[in-house]
Amino acid sequence: MASPVLPSSGVLSPLGLDSVRLAPGFWGDRVALNREVIIAHCQEWMERAGWIGNFRTLGEDPARRGARPRQGREFSDSEIYKLLEAMAWADHPALPELATTVARAQEEDGYLNTRWHDARYTDFEWGHELYCYGHLIQAGVARLRVHGEDELTEVVRRAADHICLRFMDTTETCGHPVVEMALVELYRVTGVERYLEMARRFVERRGAPALDDIPFGRAYFQDDLPVRKAEVFRGHAVRAMYLACGAVDVAVETGDAELLSAVEAQWERTVARRVHLTGGLGSHHSDEAFGEDFELPPDRAYSETCAGIGSFMLSQRLLLATGDVRYADLAERTLFNVLATAPALDGRSFFYANPLHVRVPATPVEGINQGAEGGLRSPWFTVSCCPNNIARTYASLAGYIATSDASGVQIHHHIPGEIRHDGFALRVETGYPWSGEVTVRVLEGGPARISLRVPSWASGAQISHGGATRPVSPGYAVAEGEWGAGDEIRLDLPMTPRWTLPDRRVDALRGCAAVERGPVVYCAESVGDVPELALVEARVSPPVEHLVDGVVELDVESARLSPETGDWPYTPAQETESPDLSDPEPLRLVPYHRWGNRGPATMRVWLPVPDRTA
Ligand SMILES: [Zn+2]
Repeated sequence: MASPVLPSSGVLSPLGLDSVRLAPGFWGDRVALNREVIIAHCQEWMERAGWIGNFRTLGEDPARRGARPRQGREFSDSEIYKLLEAMAWADHPALPELATTVARAQEEDGYLNTRWHDARYTDFEWGHELYCYGHLIQAGVARLRVHGEDELTEVVRRAADHICLRFMDTTETCGHPVVEMALVELYRVTGVERYLEMARRFVERRGAPALDDIPFGRAYFQDDLPVRKAEVFRGHAVRAMYLACGAVDVAVETGDAELLSAVEAQWERTVARRVHLTGGLGSHHSDEAFGEDFELPPDRAYSETCAGIGSFMLSQRLLLATGDVRYADLAERTLFNVLATAPALDGRSFFYANPLHVRVPATPVEGINQGAEGGLRSPWFTVSCCPNNIARTYASLAGYIATSDASGVQIHHHIPGEIRHDGFALRVETGYPWSGEVTVRVLEGGPARISLRVPSWASGAQISHGGATRPVSPGYAVAEGEWGAGDEIRLDLPMTPRWTLPDRRVDALRGCAAVERGPVVYCAESVGDVPELALVEARVSPPVEHLVDGVVELDVESARLSPETGDWPYTPAQETESPDLSDPEPLRLVPYHRWGNRGPATMRVWLPVPDRTA
């Protein structure tokens, strides 16, 4: 089964890339763009940056080691591995040659790292050696599941055996988790139990503590508390998500119910208090970290693309383990508003940070972007984790769409395509997320329960089959029966745009409201016939839909604020007046994921509204 996550037990079993085929549509088109453009783009930039060359320097002629200075940050090897993983899922023809380049740099005992080969394991806090192995192993898992054994998987087995030999009986771990979930998945695909045991020990070691203190504090790399003692996700958001994924994987494979429920509780508390409307994670730019509860500033939202991807991966693991629809709901929010946002529509530039408010249009950067602020997509970054992470996630996306259990098939994400399982075949047809109509046509029938997710916002949804229509609540709409070829199930999700208010404790969002339609978060963007966003106030009135090139855009009523300023931007409370909204004008909102495609712009998701009931 070709799936990125394949637990040996759990409430639901994923259907892999061999069971789910995506057709053209919102996601099918993006997955095709990934295969045709994004993967090659990432490879080109890593050649240009010299990161692939690092492997050649090390591998081609040991005598020339050091003759060419190493390029890139200490963790750049992981980027080549993420690209290899993307190529493996996509069964991309460029994989074997790149795998050979990597294989030649591996040492006799399985060690492989272009930065630390002459100073092995001397910096666990920042060295990222085990982190790099983690991504290497994930590439190998993908290759084993899609293709089978080859040069890459041999490299991966040797590296994994080296890790077990070197670390099984120490107290060491890596400042950046990912090796944990990678080793569990390698155990799942090979059956070699020491990989699972090594992963378990890495998870349990954290918080002992296992790492030296750093200026950000040990919470930065989740070494402040043992995983099973923590109450909320904290610290560096990508690290937190990858560690949680590894903990769930270990818990599922070892039957550790306490560990699983600890991560579930952390997820629940975090989602209630520390997640942006887009599903994005992170409120601090300095340490790329979660903020405190309800610290969710839209302009300083970090919402790194990789943290969204980590959250998407965690949601999938928790969904499979528990069958709880909440995880699929957050996965969808993250999919449409972080994962779809990061790449430009042409697949040649990317957001690293995904803030919800940009005040000043960014200045385009020539070449490699040193920063990650999020005002403008860049073709490549000094720390370029996000583009390759998008590539591998898009390449494996079909493995996240549907699941099965003993009674039938569950469709969690409404994406056009075909789903085959156990002699049963379905075709999903939909214009989602612009349309709320989802039609499931039976191609090859049999007795089964077909469950279709009804998102949490979709109150008033209906399901129709066998000539009957009935209302369905958020959760799963279940259609059960003896299906024959040609039978049809239709799900109708209400797609009326809706205004959303923040929790009153999110002080950075007081007096603001946002618009969502289906799973898509909207924003105003200062391009085209749109007034200066700093001088606009919106009115919570029904948005008017416009179909523009197949995309639903919305008009809401707004008023312009005066550009005049006094000598002090504050007034006594009794003199405060509401602005005049007697002559409203339209303010165009576009899907958040499309913003920044028409040139430098300001942007905001949360719009100030005069009604201070928020
Ligand atoms: Zn990243």
